[in-house]
Amino acid sequence: FRKTAAQQSDMRNAPRLEAESMSMSEDPVRVSEGKATKITKINPVGVGCVNLASRYDTDVGSFFVKTNSYGRWEIGPSVFGFVVRSIGPSMFEAEALGLGAMYETGTICVPKPYKFGLLPTGGSFIIMEFIQFGASRGYQGGSLLKCIKLESPVKPMVSMLITPLAGQRPVKSMGRLFANVVIEPCLLHGDLWSGNISSNRNGEPVILDPACYYGHSEAEFGMSWCAGFEGSVYDSYFKVMPKQPGFEERRDLYMLYHCLNHYNLFGSGYRSSAMSIIDDYLDSVVS
Ligand code: ADP
Repeated sequence: FRKTAAQQSDMRNAPRLEAESMSMSEDPVRVSEGKATKITKINPVGVGCVNLASRYDTDVGSFFVKTNSYGRWEIGPSVFGFVVRSIGPSMFEAEALGLGAMYETGTICVPKPYKFGLLPTGGSFIIMEFIQFGASRGYQGGSLLKCIKLESPVKPMVSMLITPLAGQRPVKSMGRLFANVVIEPCLLHGDLWSGNISSNRNGEPVILDPACYYGHSEAEFGMSWCAGFEGSVYDSYFKVMPKQPGFEERRDLYMLYHCLNHYNLFGSGYRSSAMSIIDDYLDSVVS
């Protein structure tokens, strides 16, 4: 994921919310440059996968804040116990840069990022525009998946995906999936599953919590096994980016990347999905 230095600096210096008062308070939203002077309410929002999320109501409006320094009881396939999570600001920096890059395209509603930084207690925070969600999920309407074509080419994502398959046979024969495919670099959300898709009060689709990078447009479907996209989403997508032969097979490969990642992060429940894609792929190589 890349942005120009000028764009990065522009976003970081955006004089909207400052965290200067953090030496006086643990609160990331306390005083801004003559703007927010009072927090009227703080409420938890939803349940994030990784961070604590809150809505801050201030005298200049509402903000959405995520922090990641906290302890909580967690029970899951690979976790049981009281877990203290504390992650440096690089994760939120990437989120802020990703949101900023998508926001600047003006093609789809994403929360505007304002600030990220370190909490004095350890861990970090990000502050962004608070989005009031509407009733509908919004993303089946068709305008969700828009690719933003870039002027300068970037390396295709193939090399990143080859490694997880480990083993010379698939690695050597994978190239055929990409033979004669025109790969135009696009800005990708990177984690486009249903939990990160909503709609605003106008019914327009909103995408959240990105893991942006520039890559092959088809890689955006790597999380489609958790997205529930209807046919209309694909139809409107292919109007923007015409479908190329072999799309489904390559989509499986991009899904494999996410399955392996989930296996890595969340445990053995995802092994069978990964293996099934690998087996199909090996079968197709042999046959
Ligand atoms: P995590 O990084 O922990 O996965 P999320 O970004 O998914 O957290 O956010 C957690 C919750 O907050 C979700 O329920 C999501 O719908 C909601 N949310 C995310 N971004 C915003 C926003 N800008 N405004 C309002 N609610 C949001």
